Amino acid sequence: MFDSSLRIPNQQIILPILEDKGVELFIKREDLIHPYVSGNKYRKLKHNLIEAKRQKAKAILTFGGAYSNHIAATAAAGKINGFETIGVIRGDELAKDIDNVLEYNKTLKLAYESGMKFKFISREDYRNKNQESFLNKLQDEFNEFYLVPEGGSNKLAVKGCEEILTNEDEKFNYICSAVGTGGTIAGLINSVNDNQKVIGFPALKGSFLESEIDKFSNRNDNWSLEKEYHFGGYGKFDERLISFINYFKENTTVPLDPIYTGKMVYGIIDMISNNKFQRGSKILAIHTGGLQGVEGVNQKLKRKGMDLIQ
Ligand SMILES: *Cc1c(COP(=O)(O)O)cnc(C)c1O
Repeated sequence: MFDSSLRIPNQQIILPILEDKGVELFIKREDLIHPYVSGNKYRKLKHNLIEAKRQKAKAILTFGGAYSNHIAATAAAGKINGFETIGVIRGDELAKDIDNVLEYNKTLKLAYESGMKFKFISREDYRNKNQESFLNKLQDEFNEFYLVPEGGSNKLAVKGCEEILTNEDEKFNYICSAVGTGGTIAGLINSVNDNQKVIGFPALKGSFLESEIDKFSNRNDNWSLEKEYHFGGYGKFDERLISFINYFKENTTVPLDPIYTGKMVYGIIDMISNNKFQRGSKILAIHTGGLQGVEGVNQKLKRKGMDLIQ
């Protein structure tokens, strides 16, 4: 599935605010790559799976939460590329009633249907998941596997994200991306031109991100983070964000997710409204995917009696 002929369209966004402010906004539709192996998860898995194949690994093991885009993507990509997959999932309470979990959690159901084996662990064990003793225990339990870290961020993942931008994207002044672990933005930072700036929109609260991004990127003078658009933290959202996502899809056809890309595009439009971009600026926002998570969020919204994502 990782062929080099992949062509991703940049879709121009037409909205009154953009015309008013004289700013051009395009969205790189990486969400269209594949329904589950979409956006940056495709980019981050690509060179890891090529390497796993080279090492003749039979299985891929990785970590994630119960609604993780990375878990869904790894399971689907593993199936397509002939690997067994093992998902070490945060939350041992889920193991007690797996049938029920698979019924209401579409992410895990998708992963399960792609043949992923689950190991549910406590939140405490999850925090210690990178320790050697824990990894050794996993080796004993599952034999040999190729390890992909949580969120998929490692050197090979960043290499994949360096392939997002193409020569045709040189005309943009700003490249925008949602930020989780920082791997994706690191790839963008490494691949932009000298006259381009990268702006990241963290989907979570915290000040640890800069050092993570520094670890994987080779410069620090061409990027910044806009930290006011996390909506309370990772996985948090409110009615304002949901109605923005619905407004945006209705007026542009572009679907956004409320965990990552919705927050980024909300932030970009808010910054444009507040004249943070000069007239004539050309902005390219990367749609990093994540749409498989919308159904899970809609279940939550329904329980709360809120409007759903359309
Ligand atoms: C995982 C994910 C991100 C975060 O990517 P990082 O490389 O961890 O910063 C952004 N957007 C979407 C849709 C994602 O699924």
